[in-house]
Amino acid sequence: MISQIIDQNTIERLRALINQVHRIVITCHKSPDGDALGSSLALCHVLKRLGKDAAVVTPDMVPKALEFIPGVRDITVYTKHELRARHLLREAQLIFCLDYNALQRIDRLAEVIEPLNAPRVLIDHHLDPEDSFNLVISVPEASSTCELVFRVFMQMGLLKFMDRTAASCLYVGLLTDTGGFAYSCDNPEFYEIIASIMRRRFDRITLYNKAMNTFSADSLRLQGYAINEKMQLFPTQGVALITLDKDELERFNYNRGDTETLVNKPLAIPEVYWSVFMREDQDRIKISCRSQGDFSVSDICSRYFNGGGHENAAGGEFSGSLSEAVALFHQILDDLFPASDNLDKQTQQQ
Ligand code: 5GP
Ligand code: MN
Repeated sequence: MISQIIDQNTIERLRALINQVHRIVITCHKSPDGDALGSSLALCHVLKRLGKDAAVVTPDMVPKALEFIPGVRDITVYTKHELRARHLLREAQLIFCLDYNALQRIDRLAEVIEPLNAPRVLIDHHLDPEDSFNLVISVPEASSTCELVFRVFMQMGLLKFMDRTAASCLYVGLLTDTGGFAYSCDNPEFYEIIASIMRRRFDRITLYNKAMNTFSADSLRLQGYAINEKMQLFPTQGVALITLDKDELERFNYNRGDTETLVNKPLAIPEVYWSVFMREDQDRIKISCRSQGDFSVSDICSRYFNGGGHENAAGGEFSGSLSEAVALFHQILDDLFPASDNLDKQTQQQ
């Protein structure tokens, strides 16, 4: 039995909002991942089956590796089709905000959405949502936004509209946001949700391979290089750092998404419980953090890198050079581990 964890009053308000309107736009965070796209496309698909004029608008391009998700081709990408995106949003009578908790996470799309009168509905599982939404479904304990979209369907009595296509989209988010059912999926109900979507008989193995185990040769070589030559270990503190600058990325013909799961790799080492990855982008340094146990990388990312996320998976950015970002990382290490640092130095002196 899957319990009704979303407040039924909120569900009824959502039902009323949807019933009142025809044109609906669904947005998700920049650099969209499997959960952002899977939840947006599943919701869009079900809303269309309800007879709504629904569309997905993303702040920027979908990574090549996620183009297999059903419906991706119909997405309007703001950085590519700005006029169409603006038009869709201006005309929208209801705007869904999926898999993000702050308008900053949708980049310049925020400026488009902010002045609009259409109500905004948040469905998200990140900590501490900001106060920018008219209706809030925020459950940080949930595995993924896809899980929440499933629960919304269930509590609204819409599961009969969740066909094979919608189930495929949800599966991608449930799978990728839990690292292939590895973390954030301790709630037994998670598997009841999987069971329910499995009944739609989608091609699970193909989706699994595309979502979890498909990389270009360049991406695989870049990851090998990063681990072999760029992974620095700080054994005393149990920390790993990988950095990649623009030249290194260019050497491996970097494409968006190519380093998506790299930050998880150092956590395979039993002594490492905090892994940091820094990538030099066009105009900033992108930071990704993963941790094991009760060390909150969300705190680290919000305190030092203008970001956030979840306790064990978070990200942010740094405006400055890569070497300045690395210097800040060392300062964080010193701040976090002053005692063990000294111990380490004493041990080295002996
Ligand atoms: P990733 O490291 O895969 O980019 O992101 C891991 C988690 O941190 C995701 O849940 C993502 O939403 C969140 N995250 C990544 N980058 C940022 C950021 O710049 N700001 C905030 N607030 N969250 C981020
Ligand atoms: Mn998510």
